Amino acid sequence: MSLDDLPPLRNTLAAAGISAKKSFGQHFLLDLNITRKLARLAGVSAGETVIEVGPGPGGLTRALLEAGAHVVAIEKDARFIPLLEELGAHAPGQLEVIHGDALTAALPAGAPIVANLPYNVGTPLLIGWLTGPLRPRSMTLMFQKEVAQRIVAAPGSKDYGRLSVLTQALCEAKIVMELPARAFTPPPKVASAVVQLAPRLDRPSDTIVEQLQRLTAGAFGQRRKMLRSSLKPLGGEALCAAVGIEPSLRAEDVTVAQYLMMAGQPLILPTTPTVSSPP
Ligand code: SAM
Repeated sequence: MSLDDLPPLRNTLAAAGISAKKSFGQHFLLDLNITRKLARLAGVSAGETVIEVGPGPGGLTRALLEAGAHVVAIEKDARFIPLLEELGAHAPGQLEVIHGDALTAALPAGAPIVANLPYNVGTPLLIGWLTGPLRPRSMTLMFQKEVAQRIVAAPGSKDYGRLSVLTQALCEAKIVMELPARAFTPPPKVASAVVQLAPRLDRPSDTIVEQLQRLTAGAFGQRRKMLRSSLKPLGGEALCAAVGIEPSLRAEDVTVAQYLMMAGQPLILPTTPTVSSPP
């Protein structure tokens, strides 16, 4: 029994009588050429432990196993567990299947994460991995294209927002692949894109990251206002003056480096709650 003996994914799904559930954000990649490309982009090496979130029918999982990785796969939908266990039998010792919720489950720290993410929880998962204790070595993640564009957006663009600042303050982020809706079964309403994220070596401290979240919540919460007014509760003009930023700028004109400089200052009142999920 080897991975080469496995039937096409479409047949596996049909034999199990499984169809996609919208509530789990299920849009499957059944073309192994695509999943192999994704595994290559992730740069996974033989023997390395990799986390896959939402393996579903296992197309990406197969590609990761073929690359020789040790895969820890966490799937919320119980219907896929027997299929994944069967897949694991074709790559003995390489696949560990966890039936659980990636938002709350304990996962191995430091391991790269590779996933075609469920659209409904993609952003909260990313924020948790960016700010939480897991500290993945790298992340190669498929999102709706619109979310991917927000993650990599530059200052001055309409997509630039809290998610861009937080992500880019902590990681180098770039789009490495785009896929049309028809690449998925069933096709979603929108196109998708894969973002590759590599943690910055000069990662700011957790305190700075907390301050950054407060600042970006304030600034982008009222993105049409000038900083002197949107950041008033946190220091407004004095805060801008301390780091040499024009208080007449608006949230989207401020670079990530400038937000980080502001986050290094003592903020007046931590009244704005730390936000875990940008809008
Ligand atoms: N990786 C598969 C593929 O590419 O064909 C499936 C991708 S599908 C977009 C998302 C998968 O994530 C589904 O299998 C879904 O059941 C699973 N899922 C949804 N929410 C989840 C959660 N909170 N934790 C773990 N898995 C989840």
